[in-house]
Amino acid sequence: MSDFLDDLRRRLPADCLQTDVDVTAAYSQDRALFETAGTAAVLVMPRTTDDVVAAVEVSASFGVPIVPRGAGTGLTGAANASDGCMILSLHRMTEILEIDATNRMVRVQPGVINADLKAAVAAHGLFYPPDPASFDMSSIGGNVATNAGGLCCVKYGVTRDYVVGLEVVLASGEILRTGRHTLKSTTGLDLTGLFVGSEGVLGIVTEISLKLVPEPPAAATAVAFFEELAPAGSAIAEVFTAGHDPSMMEIIDQASIRQVEAVYHMELDVDAACLLLIQTDGQDAHRSIEAITEICTSHGASSLYLATDPSEGDMLIEARRRVWPAMEKLGKTLLPEDVAVRRERLTELLEGIVAIGVEYDVTLATIGHAGDGNMHPVFVVDPNDPAELERARAAFAAILELALALGGTIAAEHGIGTLKREFIGRELDPVQLATQRLLKNALDPDGLFNPGKAL
Ligand SMILES: Cc1cc2nc3c(=O)[nH]c(=O)nc-3n(C[C@H](O)[C@H](O)[C@H](O)COP(=O)(O)OP(=O)(O)OC[C@H]3O[C@@H](n4cnc5c(N)ncnc54)[C@H](O)[C@@H]3O)c2cc1C
Repeated sequence: MSDFLDDLRRRLPADCLQTDVDVTAAYSQDRALFETAGTAAVLVMPRTTDDVVAAVEVSASFGVPIVPRGAGTGLTGAANASDGCMILSLHRMTEILEIDATNRMVRVQPGVINADLKAAVAAHGLFYPPDPASFDMSSIGGNVATNAGGLCCVKYGVTRDYVVGLEVVLASGEILRTGRHTLKSTTGLDLTGLFVGSEGVLGIVTEISLKLVPEPPAAATAVAFFEELAPAGSAIAEVFTAGHDPSMMEIIDQASIRQVEAVYHMELDVDAACLLLIQTDGQDAHRSIEAITEICTSHGASSLYLATDPSEGDMLIEARRRVWPAMEKLGKTLLPEDVAVRRERLTELLEGIVAIGVEYDVTLATIGHAGDGNMHPVFVVDPNDPAELERARAAFAAILELALALGGTIAAEHGIGTLKREFIGRELDPVQLATQRLLKNALDPDGLFNPGKAL
């Protein structure tokens, strides 16, 4: 190990390396707090692609596994250290290298925080849509590696839909440049797509080119409260069948509403079974939000609230963003799910989640990107109560099975990490799984990158 560290010291600036155990421990765990993390041998914090190449070459020559890390906000243990690994944290690579307003593209280093990117391109009248609820803390590199979704992805699509090119350091230390610099290209296979959502198991992303869209006109926002879950589910399906295109369609259940209200006093209806937070944008925003609220009324919404100006709309969205911090105030540990079904199966999923909560006697609050059919039931667990943790884990597995039985997915936007690795074969058939592992072996034959994660 000392030869390994000596080689790293020869190849990298001194301040890029840390072996202090308290410091390495602070970079060894993401936000999946029930997933275990090992003890890293070293933390490397590169500033340039050349630094990354040096780190990869030295690790490869000593057979030391590399765990890439963005901002560590992941929810599946995908950035957790394994024993003796190198944590390669990209958080210092924060340059926005080019904003190209003519072609509506931006080129960034991976450590740029999503919110900083949004603000930088907004100054040019442009919009980068993917907006995970963690947008003010998660990195673009992490968003790419998890194919992050978010609140406005129901209209604008997920991270994958915006990545047009990547620079990736491969296990060989070579630099691979994928994708295009023009608005269109059909040359060769889509290697960019292969790396999006690959959870750091194929290579280290060191540069990202993203597509942008013009800043949309001010949005219209509404909230609809329902006394039961099923009518909310059917209203959501009808909104899309009727041809509407909301830019946000979020659901917050009663347990979440009550906790947000208890902590932040936002005058929410705590007796409602759930609320739908709806936003529309574009020229037709106001006409469209009215039509959508009419659909909600026809499905039995108990009350409706239409924001009169954008700042009021932002306040309503804030209720959604505050669910997680409010749940954290319960002083327990949160274990979030991330399942999705087709929109017409949403009611069955919502009701099934409630039934599972009762059956396993667990505390559960559900939020979700309802327009995408993507639900995040969040288990609230006392980590010091093994029986409660066991019940929560069993309920967690039951929700995955429910999603699969409804033709859905076990991982809509958070990825697999270690949290769901044992379940991946329940969704991917053997041929697909074997093909994916073949690609991993072709690119990383010695298993250098993020071993034990995702695949
Ligand atoms: C409060 C809260 C709300 C959230 N809301 C959402 C949401 O709405 N939608 C959503 O999709 N997610 C959400 N998440 C999850 C998380 O924020 C996302 O998964 C995010 O994309 C992770 O980014 P990160 O920079 O923190 O990456 P990390 O957690 O550091 O890493 C995530 C994965 O990416 C890999 N990785 C990171 N950088 C690189 C790189 N440069 N090259 C190769 N691999 C790399 C890591 O190895 C790991 O596998 C939320 C999390 C929290 C805590």
